[in-house]
Amino acid sequence: MTELHDLLRPVFDDVVARNPGEREFHQAVHEVLESLGPVVAKRPEYVDAAVIQRLCEPERQIIFRVPWLDDRGRTQVNRGFRVEFNSALGPYKGGLRFHPSVYLGIVKFLGFEQIFKNALTGLPIGGGKGGSDFDPKGRSDAEVMRFCQSFMTELYRHLGEHTDVPAGDIGVGGREIGYLFGQYKRITNRYESGVLTGKGLAWGGSQVRTEATGYGVVFFVDRMLAAAGDSLEGKRVVVSGSGNVAIYAIEKVHQLGGRVVACSDSSGYVVDDAGIDLELLKVVKNEQRGRIADYVEARGGGAVLGASGSVWDVACDVALPCATQNELDEAAAKALVGGGVRVVAEGANMPTTPGAVRLFAEAGVQFAPGKAANAGGVATSALEMQQNASRDSWSFEYTEGRLAGIMSDIHDRCLATAEEYGQPGSYAAGANIAGFTQVADAMVALGVV
Ligand code: GLU
Repeated sequence: MTELHDLLRPVFDDVVARNPGEREFHQAVHEVLESLGPVVAKRPEYVDAAVIQRLCEPERQIIFRVPWLDDRGRTQVNRGFRVEFNSALGPYKGGLRFHPSVYLGIVKFLGFEQIFKNALTGLPIGGGKGGSDFDPKGRSDAEVMRFCQSFMTELYRHLGEHTDVPAGDIGVGGREIGYLFGQYKRITNRYESGVLTGKGLAWGGSQVRTEATGYGVVFFVDRMLAAAGDSLEGKRVVVSGSGNVAIYAIEKVHQLGGRVVACSDSSGYVVDDAGIDLELLKVVKNEQRGRIADYVEARGGGAVLGASGSVWDVACDVALPCATQNELDEAAAKALVGGGVRVVAEGANMPTTPGAVRLFAEAGVQFAPGKAANAGGVATSALEMQQNASRDSWSFEYTEGRLAGIMSDIHDRCLATAEEYGQPGSYAAGANIAGFTQVADAMVALGVV
């Protein structure tokens, strides 16, 4: 790990001591503090007045029991979380993740990242995150509904369109948001559209929200390539994952003239040199909730299942990790560099390990961190909130144009900030510093609260 500035080392040590065992949270904090050396050198009051220390301590952490009945009538018990991290810029905003790996350290890393990501969008949203160790895999619709209803029966008291506005993340899509919204509406007797985002189009959702994270990553990559006088035309692209983010990243790469030649899921990866057949992938993953091997079988020749190694062994110009945290380690980074990769942009949250990030920097690979590159999802959530507040709904074209503009602004802001702080070309430094200074200055203005 890169050494921290002298003023920041004790801040980090304190975070580790106060939050024992929360490995991913420590990693996320370290990644931000690594960039802040030149900032605290100019402005030591960010440490002296405990602004950074306050930023690392969530405003509120809610942990609750989620009991529910499965289809066989047995009682199941899960744990629910909502970490309301920072509300200096607006109501807490961030998704819910339902996955067996979820514990407080994961929710805190995601919530911490969300603060800076949301600031970078330029829209008035604070940072939060939540979820549960519930595993939706193999559960019936009725079980998912009962789980969501029980989850919301506790969480509703902490939410509100001006207080805390959850959305989806891994394991939480349109179906879950529907059940959660239905229960919120029933308990509160209010049709408060702006309390959740990622809603269905017929009941308060926004055009482009489903596509936004994946599209946004590719808009960002397009700007990175353009800044280097290049474009996506004819580029070989590898995408990890095959969930919502991956699917719409693939779609936008194809629309912009690139070719996605490999993608993956937790069971393996597929290489399809002619380009992933996206309509088929959507049917297999979204409708059949199938595995990547089912895609290969349905494709009927051309596509092959990766026999060994990982999706990162497939040679490409652009790599988009869109699966989950720490999926791209040093060995994977070496394979990508060996395969000629020139641009890596994170569609998932913190998918690249610190060692892999260092290797990319050494090899001169352009690297865009998730808090900048995948901000399109939450940015479009904020656009959904705008539409809800004005009881309006915008067209697909208009909303996509807003998304493209926001991604372009984030790109330019990262580059300009990196330049200003003496680290030209570092999107990671630019994203961390720009996000941090905006939130920190707002916190100072609001006093010690
Ligand atoms: N879970 C998404 C993220 O990581 C979206 C959050 C939202 O839309 O509130 O940014």
